[in-house]
Amino acid sequence: GELMASTPDIQPNRVEIIRNTNPATPPPSHTLVFGHTFTDHMLTIPWNAVSGWGTPEIKPYGPFQMEPSATVLHYAQTIFEGMKAYRDEHGKITLFRPDMNMKRMNNSARRIALPTFNGNALLDLIKQLIRIDQHWVPKEPGYSLYVRPTMIGTQKVIGVGPPSEALLFVILSPAGPYYASGFKPVALYGTTEFVRASPGGTGAYKLGVNYAPGVLPQKSAAALGYSQNLWLHGEDHQLTEVGTMNMFVVFGKEDGSTELVTPPLDGMILPGVTRDSVLTLAREHVNGTKRLPNLPENLVVSERTVTMKEVKEAAAAGRLVEMFGAGTAAVISPVDRIGYMGEDVHIPTGEDGMGPVSRPIWTELVGRQWGSIPSEWSVPI
Ligand code: PMP
Repeated sequence: GELMASTPDIQPNRVEIIRNTNPATPPPSHTLVFGHTFTDHMLTIPWNAVSGWGTPEIKPYGPFQMEPSATVLHYAQTIFEGMKAYRDEHGKITLFRPDMNMKRMNNSARRIALPTFNGNALLDLIKQLIRIDQHWVPKEPGYSLYVRPTMIGTQKVIGVGPPSEALLFVILSPAGPYYASGFKPVALYGTTEFVRASPGGTGAYKLGVNYAPGVLPQKSAAALGYSQNLWLHGEDHQLTEVGTMNMFVVFGKEDGSTELVTPPLDGMILPGVTRDSVLTLAREHVNGTKRLPNLPENLVVSERTVTMKEVKEAAAAGRLVEMFGAGTAAVISPVDRIGYMGEDVHIPTGEDGMGPVSRPIWTELVGRQWGSIPSEWSVPI
């Protein structure tokens, strides 16, 4: 906190760069599998409670040395972020709303008692790292370089407490489009056996500890023929998130309006950058700041609770327009079916998978990400 004696923050101008003398050749883009390939360099910044943030290093990607007693290995003191760098048609490389990721990473750090840092300073170093590995940013439309900032507690001690040593690192992974050909709608399993988050818990933060417990439920959903879990909350089965994405439902209302709904940020929902972008674009359309072609005129945008009862009733009455997940990896992911309490709720999808609300929003969003539509969200490296 501000009242404590302050130790040095991250200092980008102190960076030491150690070039990889054995660089790899980036594989052909079409062979990329998400998260499997890493670039030649990584960024590391050590921290300790006495001297603060230490010398940033950009050095060859490779293994760490760590003591078996390091707190991260026992108590999951680890947080991470995910964002993408895009190359536009002129070759310019940009990040999409990276300030949001820096802010969220600091919120995650605070929640798990890891050190906070100056987000602009880390962003400066991330840009330097991407510039060094810029030939790894794929050229093909829909491809990008996934950026994975991570922070772990490294103090060598058995005991649960705020670690007095930590390591922040950033690795880069070239990635293809989530859906190689069109948008394949996904089937969800509305799980009543497992929960992802609970009130007062950690669901609103990007902590490693939120993810490992989702693997078994994911396996069980897959065994039943569904691709992701739809995470429900409470006796009334409120919809919260989809797999590792935020979610939106679209209702046709009796008064002729179209309502785009996403659950509110009540402490159980991860505040997604894509979620915020979808909401912002929809609201700009509604208030006339920027009308999006083909998006319904009489759109209503709501952050409110949605229950499975409401979704089932709307589906039965023909008032369910569409449903989709939203996140950095897939951007927009349409849903065509929810397995729920022994039956399937069917959800309409458009010809190419996307619906009348998601399609125009997706077009604007990816335009701003890829740089074909200029916006302040696109930040040059
Ligand atoms: N929810 C969860 C649980 C996630 O892990 C993610 C991915 N970070 C999201 C939602 C989507 O967030 P974003 O749009 O920032 O990628």
